[in-house]
Amino acid sequence: MPGCTTIHGSSPVNSGHISDEDLELYCLGRSPDARLPRLEEHILLCPSCQRRCQDLQTYLDTIRRVLREERRSIQ
Ligand SMILES: [Zn+2]
Repeated sequence: MPGCTTIHGSSPVNSGHISDEDLELYCLGRSPDARLPRLEEHILLCPSCQRRCQDLQTYLDTIRRVLREERRSIQ
């Protein structure tokens, strides 16, 4: 079928992506030590999770900035 493109499934790591929860903990630097090596390895090998991690970090930065500004406007 022409025009049918799938981006998914081309990743070398198909044994399951990192869950949103784990990714969030990882970005916050709060991953449990037992899981950290596996998370780091997966993110290193998986462009899709690298992307999610970057997006999440941007998102967290935005939230931090907003919270800081809100705090400033309350005081
Ligand atoms: Zn992944």
